Amino acid sequence: MEIQKATGIVLYSRRSGEADVSARVFTREYGKRLFLFKGLKKSRSRPLSAAEPGTVLDLVYYYHENRELQVVNELRVTSRRESVHADLKKIFHLYYMLELIDRTTGTGDPALPLYNLLAAALDTLSTTARTVSLSAFFTLHLMRLHGILPDFARCGNCGRTDYTRFVLDFTRFLPMCDSCARGRGAGRRLLSAPLKEYLMRAPSTRFGEMPEDAPPEDEIADLLFFLALFIENYFHTELKSKAMLFSGRERA
Ligand SMILES: [Zn+2]
Repeated sequence: MEIQKATGIVLYSRRSGEADVSARVFTREYGKRLFLFKGLKKSRSRPLSAAEPGTVLDLVYYYHENRELQVVNELRVTSRRESVHADLKKIFHLYYMLELIDRTTGTGDPALPLYNLLAAALDTLSTTARTVSLSAFFTLHLMRLHGILPDFARCGNCGRTDYTRFVLDFTRFLPMCDSCARGRGAGRRLLSAPLKEYLMRAPSTRFGEMPEDAPPEDEIADLLFFLALFIENYFHTELKSKAMLFSGRERA
């Protein structure tokens, strides 16, 4: 038994019994951990919003290696972005990014670069109006950090690098140039050259440094949809937040 301090972002929480709340928290120090907040629902000094997804917490607890849930002794809310929680669209994107981290990381597996990515994305979410771009950008960086980002410079089928219009094969997440796509009778809408530039540039760029104008937001929405399908396919998981982001949309 060892006393640990950690700073973490709540990924998911649910009520546990009469007064307790259990939560999955992505900590900077130890990766994803499962915690029990005892008496949180009845506490006067500790707000219930402390366990809401997206909240940043400082935690003190005794770490028991053999326990699935660590009981929190002290907690302090260090950041909760009201501007996100007041905007339904931002809430959907918040849940998408939190779920992406939750579904692609294991418990007790420290991942500081992913933590920093998530913390920066939540800061940006509270101020940006380009929420779709942010989620697409976040997904590409997450893929880079997981080492599963493909080479967008060349067609995944014929290898040519001078293609402009293309489709995305979401099972491998490889671009396929327009002539290869036609040869295979792919009926999907072709994506544009600015989107190719975006895919090649985003993984080595900060969000604030991405150009604001191109590509158009509806193409980024197409891209985000393919990205979410790829993540689901690669990690054999289902992103529940995808339904919120793309309600009413046909499967590509
Ligand atoms: Zn090709």
